[in-house]
Formats: sequence, C-alpha cells, structure tokens
Amino acid sequence: MPLSDRRLALSPDAPDAPGAADDAVTPAPKPAKRTKTGGVEPAEVPKKPAALPKTADKLAKLGLKSDIDLALHLPMRYEDETTLMPIGELIPGDNAQTEGIVFENEIAYRPRRQLLVKIRDDAGDELTLRFLNFYGSQVKQMAVGVRLRVRGDVRGGFFGLEMVHPALRPVDDDTPLPQALTPVYPSTAGVSQAYLRKAIDNAVGRVSLPELLPEKIARTYLQPLNVPGLLDAVKTLHHPRADSDEPALVDGTHPAWTRIKFEELLAQQLSLKRAHEERRTRAAPVMPRRSLHEPDSLVVRFLGTLPFRLTGAQERVCAEIAAELTLPHPMQRLLQGDVGSGKTVVAALAAAQAIDAGYQAALMAPTEILAEQHARKLRGWLEPLGVTVAWLAGSLKTREKRAALEAAASGVAQLVIGTHAIIQDAVEFARLGLVIVDEQHRFGVAQRLALRAKAQNAADGARDFQPHQLMMSATPIPRTLAMTYYADLDVSTIDELPPGRTPILTKLVSDARREEVIGRVREAALTGRQVYWVCPLIEESETLQLQTAVETYETLATTLPELRVGLVHGRLPPAEKAAVMDAFTRNEVQLLVATTVIEVGVDVPNASLMVIEHAERFGLAQLHQLRGRVGRGSAASVCVLMYAGPLSQTARARLQTMRETTDGFEIARRDLEIRGPGEFLGARQSGEAMLRFASLENDAWLIEPARAAADHMLREFPDAVTRHLLRWLGAREQYLKA
Ligand code: ADP
Ligand code: MG
Repeated sequence: MPLSDRRLALSPDAPDAPGAADDAVTPAPKPAKRTKTGGVEPAEVPKKPAALPKTADKLAKLGLKSDIDLALHLPMRYEDETTLMPIGELIPGDNAQTEGIVFENEIAYRPRRQLLVKIRDDAGDELTLRFLNFYGSQVKQMAVGVRLRVRGDVRGGFFGLEMVHPALRPVDDDTPLPQALTPVYPSTAGVSQAYLRKAIDNAVGRVSLPELLPEKIARTYLQPLNVPGLLDAVKTLHHPRADSDEPALVDGTHPAWTRIKFEELLAQQLSLKRAHEERRTRAAPVMPRRSLHEPDSLVVRFLGTLPFRLTGAQERVCAEIAAELTLPHPMQRLLQGDVGSGKTVVAALAAAQAIDAGYQAALMAPTEILAEQHARKLRGWLEPLGVTVAWLAGSLKTREKRAALEAAASGVAQLVIGTHAIIQDAVEFARLGLVIVDEQHRFGVAQRLALRAKAQNAADGARDFQPHQLMMSATPIPRTLAMTYYADLDVSTIDELPPGRTPILTKLVSDARREEVIGRVREAALTGRQVYWVCPLIEESETLQLQTAVETYETLATTLPELRVGLVHGRLPPAEKAAVMDAFTRNEVQLLVATTVIEVGVDVPNASLMVIEHAERFGLAQLHQLRGRVGRGSAASVCVLMYAGPLSQTARARLQTMRETTDGFEIARRDLEIRGPGEFLGARQSGEAMLRFASLENDAWLIEPARAAADHMLREFPDAVTRHLLRWLGAREQYLKA
C-alpha cells in the first residue's frame, strides 16, 4: 500500500512523523542541520537504503539540496481535490474527482492486456477505471469492496463513463477531503509528486526563513505592494488555506506570489547591477579624445573626409562612446539602431579613436558577406588616411591568412575585420584595445568572450584587463526587456535615420500572382533600378533550400532574358560570392536572387525593389532585416511579401505588422507580443535564466520597484545584497558573468 500511505501522510492534518522517506529527502551532506532540529535518531535509517542516494540525487538535479531550496521550490500549479462529484454528474471532458466502491476487478485481454476496475457510488452510478500498465500490487490495492477516491479526465467509453489511469487512493467512508488546493511541483522523472510534497512539507516545517530585506527597504518597497511576510507567503503557496483566493493562486497574482516574484526580480536586478559595478573595478586601455585642433588625429581627419554629415542621433551616440573610451574601465555598450540607421560609421569612429591612442581595433561580423562589406567600406574610409586594415576569414588562402595573422600579431594591422575566424586560437593581437561585434545577437556568449580574451597582450601588466566592447544590433529591445536582460550593459540608441531616405511601401501578394510580380521586376530593372529576389526559407533542409534557390535563379534568368541575373547563397565559394556581390554593387547585376545570406547588413543603395517568396515562413525580425536592404537610396522602394495560404494566425499577424510599419522598435514590440520574451532573445544570453517565478510578460510592473530597491540596497546595505543573492540565486548567479 505505498501509494495510500504516502497520500495519507500528505494531508495537512496527518501527524508529521519523521520516518524513512523524511530522512531520505535530506541528503547526506547536511547532517548537522538534521541533528540540530533533533528529529531523527540513528535507528531511524531508511528502510530501503538502496533507494536513498538515487532519490537524493534526483532532488539534487532539481537543485534541491537544502531545506531552503525545498521550501523555495514552489508549486507550478494546483489541483483542486476539495470536492467530490457524484458519478451520475460526471460529464465526458471534465477533470473531476469522485469516489466509489470497487465491485469488479478483472484483467481483460482484448483488445490488449488491461486492468478494468469498476466502482459504484452511493447513488448506484458506475464508473470504469482502465489501466493499460499496472502492477500486481495495484490489482490488490483495488480489490473488490475497497472504497477508492479517484481523479482524472472523464471519457465516454464503450461501456459508459470511464477514466484511464486516474490518480487514486483507497479511503474510508469518512476520510476527509483536503480543505484547500493541492500543490503540483516542478519535477523530473523519478521524483513523484507525493514524494516531493512530503519532502517539501517537512522542509517547510523545519526551516526558518528569516526576512533578509533591511527594514528600510521593506518599508519603502514592499509595504506599498501589500504583500505578506516571506515565510507566510511560502507557507500559503505550499499550503493554500481553504479560504484563499484560489484563482489568484492559480494565475500567479496572489499577494503571496507577488512577494516571491519581487524577491526574485530583486535578486536578478542586484546580480545584473553588481556585474555592472564589478566592471568598474577592471582595467581597460585609456583612449583620450583628440581635440579638433590636432590635425594629425585620425578621428579628426576621418570626420573631415566623410562624404556625409552625421545625423544628430549619430553624433549623440558617438559622443557617448567617445567619452567612455577615455575611461580606464572597460566599456560594455550595446549600440542599437534600426536597420540602415548608420551604425557602421559610428563603429568606424570608435575604431579611429582606439587607433589614435595606439591600440588595435577588431570588428567581427556574423557572415562573410557582411564582414566583407564592412572591410570594403572601412578600407574605403580609412586606408586613404594611412590606416592598415587586415582581413580575416575562413576562406583565405594559407599565404594570405599567414600574412593577416602576422599583421595582427605584430601590430602592423591597426584594424582587423573578419568573421568568426578572428577568434580562432592562432589569432593574436599585439595591442587589442577595442572589440566591435556587429549583429551581436548572432553570436553566442562564448564567442564574445573569446574575442575579449584576445586582448591580454595590451594589458601592460594590468590585472583583470579587458578591452572596450561595442556591440551592435539592429534588433532593438523594448525597455522592460532591456532592463532585465541587459541591465549590465550600457545602451546607446540611434533613433533617427539618415536624411533622404524614402519610406518603403510593403505589399502582401498571394503567390498566385507570381507572374504579375515578375512583370513588376522586369519593369523596375528596365528603368535602372535593382532588385532583390529572396528565396524561401526551408528550415528542415539546407540542401532543399539551396536547390530551390538554384531553380528560382534558373527560372527567373530564363523568364527575364533581358536582365542580368545573379545568384548568391551560403554555399557559394567565398570568391564567387564576393564577385556576385561586387557585380551587384556596381550595378552589373540587376536582379539578385538570394537566400537569407543577404539578411544582415548588405548595403546597395540603388536596390529599391525586394521580393520575398514564402514570406509567411520568416520571422518578424528576419523580415525586417531583409526589407532593410531596400529603402537605402533616394528612389521610392517597394517590398513585396509573397505568401502562400492558408496562413496561420501568427503568420498573418507577422505579415500585417510588416505591412503596417517600418519602425524597427514597433516591430520588435509586436514581435515580443507574438512570441514572448524567451524566444524573442534566446534565453542563452539573457538574464531570464535567473527567473523561476516571475515572468517578464505578466510581471513587468514589478521590475521598476525591484530595480529601485536594488539601487537602494546596493547603496546602503551591501551585506544584505550578498545574503539576498545567495538565497535566491546561489550558484546560478555565475551563469550571468558572461
Ligand atoms: P546599419 O545601421 O544598418 O548598419 P549602415 O551603417 O550600413 O546601417 O548605414 C546605411 C547606409 O547609410 C550606408 O550606406 C551608410 O554609408 C549611410 N549613412 C550612414 N550615416 C549616414 C548619414 N549621416 N548621412 C547619409 N548617409 C549615411
Ligand atoms: Mg549594419
């Protein structure tokens, strides 16, 4: 009867006898605690010692190593076992609890081996319980004459109402019902709810959970929230009282939840802010700003030769970056600006400041096409001013590569531009002082760290040395997200496009009108404009995607013999890729058929028409990036989103968003709405990994008070900060140090 034993022991009014299972949940490393609370004598070792380490291991895997861990392992949802439904009132589709006496118990063999147990309640109504997997002990547990309390999904079976594999326990006719909701805990396979409940119950009974928030903080930030004390909140969540606001417990808005979420968000903010402060203690190269009266300054000469005037927004972010580069602490700044807002020139100016100060700068981009284009652009700007630029990519011939490596290692190369190739082991820098990462969200944390680590030579003996880092992104992050994900980054935002851009008109066109679209392409090309044709994304198979691109290219080339058509995709040998892009840049190719390799950064201002096939398959950010390839010159641009129906609801929402707005911030906001924050940024690089209870979607309103409290605590109560972080994040805080 192990099942019934456990379930009985769980009910709140059952005597809390420290027994075998109790002991098992407190793993070996904590003996002192057990003796202190004094409950257990040596004789009471577990009855089945072999099972002990296994379950403790599994608990440890859930992160449950101490009583506090267990007490803070809060329910993910609740089950309502407070009421019994008469069998006669059950309706197929319900999840319900009912009770009856077994009057039949048989193993049937058709259509397959199964246990059929029938119960009848006091009113005489019957319910079949069906078990496809079962043990002999279960057959006995449900012997004829036993009263069973069962809970599960009601189905209309062949022989009347049934439940398949219901949760059940034998009861007496006076066994009380739980008075309140039953918690359901996050678990892994092998740790049953019953076991967890008991383990947690015991822990909550033993644990003292002192308030760690200083009185002043509690008064200022908690009191207005009207939330209970911590231990009180924890107890309420594990054992809701019969009179609690059940819907609020279930949907997470109960004051007890608010209390917990606040604590957690506070921990997250503290952690992020501390990482930010810690940066101030590390050393970085000082790069003084050269004044306009120093004509030999690269920055000054560069500005003098720039073919356009910086926008106000560009000037502002340049000033923010320039000022921070003069400090002896590493900059860690995110430069966000919509597609086409002109981030490259801002990066070039930062690089020039580093070079002026005698340091090297490195610029890493996620694709070879983009890196190549940066190289071309920055060379065009800086080489005439005497700067040596090196190019590093996977596709280089051995001899060229050796030359580039030498130039970086000797310091001859003042600016090194490339792809991931820059972070390979063989690459060394003489005096790397500034690291620039374009489209930073395309890189993992590890890759950014690897680039940062290349700077050791520039340390001049300084310990904890870091280069300055400038990360660029065209995927703007809404404010609440920025506060939680990037609280340890400083953010500069370009919120203005260079003048003279004409807005892009976006059209949604069913792919049934493909011929018509091809006609438009011909017309546009013949009037001197250039066109992108983006091939469908085929996520399941790169080969298929490639094949589609080649076929699309061939059909379009045949259908449009009067046009010069080019093809670019990820598998093209780099030299060919570069040749095609070059030809397109020089307007020798009028129609460029492309896969998403052109998604990031490609800049050909004369291109003013883009067709995206199967636009419904792309994500919003991707569509926005793609569309950003047009609208860069003075000609009015058009983006045709061709789609194949039927459209899913989210695909429709995405396409409509694209038609309605070209504002990257608005698109990011809607994208967040459609997808939720986890997917939006990829949890990998985010502070969300620290959140178990609070959700950025539902609890955004708590972020601001948590942030304010974090600032206050860091200022006045540094010891409380440490204790709070230990309790709520423990080892997980390390995760964020990247
Ligand atoms: P993104 O922010 O998407 O990386 P780019 O840096 O590629 O944008 O800039 C887009 C285009 O705008 C480039 O051709 C660039 O030379 C041009 N550009 C940048 N700043 C200005 C400006 N202030 N005035 C005119 N054109 C500019
Ligand atoms: Mg760019």
